[in-house]
Amino acid sequence: MNKLISIIIPVHNEEENVPLFFAAVTKVLGEINDYDFELIFVNDGSTDNTLNELNKIEQISTRIQIIDFSRNFGKEAATSAGLNECRGEAAIMIDADLQHPVEKIPEFLAKWETGVEVVVGVREKNKGEGLTKRIGSFFFYKIINSISETEVIAGATDFRLLDRTVVDEFKNLKERNRMTRALVDWMGFRREYIAFYANERSHGKASYSFWKLVRLAFNSMVSLSLFPLKLAGYLGIVITLLSGVLGLYIFLTEYVFHTNYFTAPAILAVIIVFLMGIVLICLGFIALYIASIHSEVAGRPMYIIRKSKVKSP
Ligand code: UDP
Ligand code: MG
Repeated sequence: MNKLISIIIPVHNEEENVPLFFAAVTKVLGEINDYDFELIFVNDGSTDNTLNELNKIEQISTRIQIIDFSRNFGKEAATSAGLNECRGEAAIMIDADLQHPVEKIPEFLAKWETGVEVVVGVREKNKGEGLTKRIGSFFFYKIINSISETEVIAGATDFRLLDRTVVDEFKNLKERNRMTRALVDWMGFRREYIAFYANERSHGKASYSFWKLVRLAFNSMVSLSLFPLKLAGYLGIVITLLSGVLGLYIFLTEYVFHTNYFTAPAILAVIIVFLMGIVLICLGFIALYIASIHSEVAGRPMYIIRKSKVKSP
């Protein structure tokens, strides 16, 4: 019996790409004899002819499964659905627009066979990518890495292979506001990277608009880091300290040495700023409680075990 490998493809308005992708992937998989494959297409509320195209290729090939969303829920939901439904001993997530080279699939499998549990495709350079997107992603990775507990590698994409144990653990993560690849990063496990050159999108245009990407960036920042929440508290500490020192200085010069150096409004301003600092510190305390609610609600497992060594009696 060959091992079963699941390939998960989120599709949203890809009517022209579906047949092309299918042809490309069939060609590559045809050259691999040691595995069986299932192709899980998740139709994420396409409004064009995508579903028809999927049904057409389903007629040709028995290894195709279609998950049809009732509306557009986003790529993160689509990949999650694919991971929840797949049955393979490993799952590979890949885009339908041929930006992720299907020829790399054998390399992913070879790495997996050496015991690596998460194989991550890292994009070397995106041909034809806009300047705003490049700058945006540069700063996104800079910021997220400086404030989050899990390391997020620049250029790491959703093109990745997950071992069965990882998929099963992934299913235990219940949070809704999610970025699939960030969650996978959070889970840990043995990981390795495969570099690839992203092709240009073969047809249609990227479904991710600028604002959708910005929203995704903020979502993942919120789900990966509590720093923004605690920012008010940190600001409060800085402001209180600075204005406190200044206030002390004013107190000494005005009321101990009687120099009349500061005007009354200036003294008032310092007092107000000092009080603002205290208010911000209080906000920081509230943030601590919200942070704890946040992590309880996300309900992530406290830890993940690769393989338990405890023997049953
Ligand atoms: N996609 C999806 N739902 C969406 C947006 C995109 O399932 O709401 C799919 C899309 O069909 C493609 C993959 O996710 O297979 C990557 O999308 P896209 O090419 O738009 O993003 P980018 O290449 O810019 O990351
Ligand atoms: Mg794309």
